Amino acid sequence: EAAINRIAAGEVVERPASAVKELVENAIDAGARRIEVSYADGGKTLIRVVDDGCGISGADLPLAMSRHATSKIDGSDLLNIHTFGFRGEALPSLGAVGRLTIKSRPEGEEAFTISTSGGEQSTVKPTALSGGTIVELRDLFYATPARLKFMRTDRAEAGAINDVIKKLAMAEPHVTFILRDVSGGGEGRVVFRADAEIGDLFDAIHARLRRILGAEFAENALLIDAEREGITLTGYAALPTYSRGSSVAQHLFVNGRPVRDKMFIGALRGAYMDFLSRDRHPAAVLFLEVEPTRVDVNVHPAKSEVRFREPAIARGLIVSAIRHALAEAGH
Ligand code: ADP
Ligand code: MG
Repeated sequence: EAAINRIAAGEVVERPASAVKELVENAIDAGARRIEVSYADGGKTLIRVVDDGCGISGADLPLAMSRHATSKIDGSDLLNIHTFGFRGEALPSLGAVGRLTIKSRPEGEEAFTISTSGGEQSTVKPTALSGGTIVELRDLFYATPARLKFMRTDRAEAGAINDVIKKLAMAEPHVTFILRDVSGGGEGRVVFRADAEIGDLFDAIHARLRRILGAEFAENALLIDAEREGITLTGYAALPTYSRGSSVAQHLFVNGRPVRDKMFIGALRGAYMDFLSRDRHPAAVLFLEVEPTRVDVNVHPAKSEVRFREPAIARGLIVSAIRHALAEAGH
């Protein structure tokens, strides 16, 4: 049973960055306004996520650590997924592949802690915490040497964590994100920081993209705001003059979740076809909102892939919205 759990867990948690993604998505789901992530040794020895979200009550802590326990879905509604989490798999998976400790305190309640190691759960104990939740994952894959071997250098794993945080930060501009490397101990070094942006969502996203992708992107960014057959598309697409030698500045979010999708890459290429040569990649950060029943985000446990029920509509919307914006800007 423990071995099976560890194998299944490896599907969700491939590397430190995937653990960070699950934990930060949980913090976002919990309504956090401030999320602080610390890691040591590329996340291999320590990942810590501190949030000021709604917290988990002491009575619910053992449940949160158990397989397929989620507070976000009632089972009857498996396709209607609005929050990031919906499988109740992340925490038990992390508890199976590392040493996991959770401290939490919902408003008006006492603080409690629970930990698990190698799938063995401790009892719930009182602890000290002013509010929110702290999740600490130590020694990822310590019990599965085969997986340990596949991790890359600390530097490469830290880079992947950085990418995950920046991506999530793009979609949540009203939330403060802080990323620290605490390898040397103590306070460590802040490697990324984005304070909560102010203003309406469009302004906040523009400001957040300026912070993450830089002033040049922000100054060349065209506002996208379009709708077709119940699918809405918002965000920013850059003028052709701001293009890159790779696809690093292409980000698609479906219902708030970052996804990787070939359709998106193809749609961007189509939209910019007349303006860019094959070796130049356009830059765009787009947020697609679609009725959850019309998209399958459940293709892979790590949830970064999507399958549209009507891919042609989504593709057509992206191509036409960008072309329209480019035409309005004189292209
Ligand atoms: P899922 O996110 O799919 O529900 P998880 O295993 O990631 O599953 O989390 C299990 C449950 O633990 C969540 O449904 C939520 O109720 C609770 N939880 C996890 N992390 C947090 C957090 N940072 N703040 C508040 N509640 C949390
Ligand atoms: Mg989750």
